[in-house]
Amino acid sequence: MTGRGSGGFVRRVARIGWLRQVLLHPVVARPGYWFATACGLVWGAVLGRFRISNTGGVILAQGLPTWAFGRGGTTIGAVYLTSDNVSPAILEHEAVHRAQWRKYGLVFIVLYVEAGQDARRNRFEVEAGLRKGGYA
Ligand SMILES: [Zn+2]
Repeated sequence: MTGRGSGGFVRRVARIGWLRQVLLHPVVARPGYWFATACGLVWGAVLGRFRISNTGGVILAQGLPTWAFGRGGTTIGAVYLTSDNVSPAILEHEAVHRAQWRKYGLVFIVLYVEAGQDARRNRFEVEAGLRKGGYA
């Protein structure tokens, strides 16, 4: 329970069936995912000095300064931003986050924040795998 305004907002929107359908429809969600991916690519290319590779699961942008992403790394759209946290387990974990971005588009940002800062209770982290993500 957050008790904050954003939580109430998400619940109110979720209750409006048609609005939820519009926001999560691929025609709306997919361009949001592409936009997030473009932002992630620019951020990763500039700050990681173009150390970008395709892992199959995610586009990996490494060599970033630690202030440029959250925790051990952050996935924005299809792009995983990190310094050097690139084990096979973490890449599998981030590939699930990529799929979440693809499904929800930009709404994913709100949904993720609403799911809470405690990774062990955040449903998106649970779905991606707490052990693979280094949380368990
Ligand atoms: Zn994660």
